[in-house]
Amino acid sequence: MLAYRFGGVFPLATTFFMSQVRVRFAPSPTGFFHIGSARTALFNWLYARHTGGKFILRIEDTDKERNSEAFLQVIMDSMRWLGMDWDEGPEVGGAFGSYFQSQRTELYQTKLKELAAKGRAYEKDGAWWLRLEGARSTVFDDHLKREIEKVDAAPMVLDDMVRGRVERAEDRDFVIFRSNGEPVFHFVNVVDDIEMQITHVIRGEDHLSNTSKHLELFKAFGVEPPKYAHIPLILKTDGPGKMSKRDRGALIEEYQQRRYLPAAVRNYLCLLGWTPADGKEVLPIDEIVRQFEISAVHQSNARFDERKMSHVNAQTLRGLPAAEFATLARPILLETKVIDATVSDARLAEVLGIVQEKVNSLEHLPEFMGFFFTAEFKKDEGAVANLTKKGGDPVARIRELLPALEAAEWTEPALEAAFAAVGTANNRKPTDYFAPARFAISGQGGGAHLLGVLRVLGRDTTLARLQTYAA
Ligand code: GLU
Repeated sequence: MLAYRFGGVFPLATTFFMSQVRVRFAPSPTGFFHIGSARTALFNWLYARHTGGKFILRIEDTDKERNSEAFLQVIMDSMRWLGMDWDEGPEVGGAFGSYFQSQRTELYQTKLKELAAKGRAYEKDGAWWLRLEGARSTVFDDHLKREIEKVDAAPMVLDDMVRGRVERAEDRDFVIFRSNGEPVFHFVNVVDDIEMQITHVIRGEDHLSNTSKHLELFKAFGVEPPKYAHIPLILKTDGPGKMSKRDRGALIEEYQQRRYLPAAVRNYLCLLGWTPADGKEVLPIDEIVRQFEISAVHQSNARFDERKMSHVNAQTLRGLPAAEFATLARPILLETKVIDATVSDARLAEVLGIVQEKVNSLEHLPEFMGFFFTAEFKKDEGAVANLTKKGGDPVARIRELLPALEAAEWTEPALEAAFAAVGTANNRKPTDYFAPARFAISGQGGGAHLLGVLRVLGRDTTLARLQTYAA
């Protein structure tokens, strides 16, 4: 928290003078929602929630040619899917609106006049320029040390978040309004950060090189700039390149289509550049909000790792309360016709009860558990080769196994004992019978715990499938 550094000394005074944190996510709706943008939004959201501040969504849609309503919708849908609610912005409102830059034209004109009246803006060749004044070099403290031209060896610490100083000179006047009458990005970005009383700018490091221009604008307006933190890039899985929107896994909607849990995607995005203090990486959002500090965001680039993302998803899935898992599973199973409406909640709960600890994603659920509800299950031919490798002739194994299972009481311990007895009688390991049995009743080479599958599939169905296989 911002106040802690001074906590013991002037607790009341600091609380009194600390203004509320106001951060914003300021996308330009010119394309699909990329994980880099989602992570920027998320770090802002986390910081706002961590500090009890406000999270603002501002749409930077001044480039009429490239913006689209559809992309805006994708951004908002994805943010809501990820659970990033905004306190001010489109569809929510707020005291500083409009939150669309395309609707703030008059304000930008007024602010341009303000600079012109001060002698800080002038017209040349139809465009408006910012006149630089005073020292040409701009030093700013970045909350994450990023090097542009020079970084101080000993960072000057202004508050608990600042970690480095970036020195970058803006050496010539620059355009703030084009000759076609449209304001440029730097201008509207700064005007809105001023008007919306933004206290912290957390954005991608691709904007680091713009910051000196932004600081010149703040200086020209005579306004104290916000604190800056530029977050490092996300690199693609292999090689040095930045993750691009064409890379697999780059777009949030891909995860929606692949039925990832939004909580898992959000959790993974947090790990792209930040590590929880105790190293426990799969954790509930409340806990992330509690722990998240901008100053702990890594200074080096993060690397996208699809396997880790999938692992976080699997862990999150396993951690769901059974009822929640069933609520997510039922519509998927209905839609893929694995079950119909006649399957009771109780029956579904029984099956899901053994599936939840093993299935890695909701996407795989239909394939993973279809055999519980139909005898016409698909046979994984790839698994057959493994069967022979492990136990020799699988049909022979099932013939050896059948009498023992037919005689067994249908409980997991009794079934386990039956496998053991058949193993001993035939001078084999009990596991030599597991894979053939699994294949005969499910067509698969892996899946939920086998004894659980036998129990839940039931005596009649199991024996019938084994008999058919052995015939
Ligand atoms: N509209 C800019 C972008 O989409 C955001 C700039 C900022 O966060 O300051 O990259």
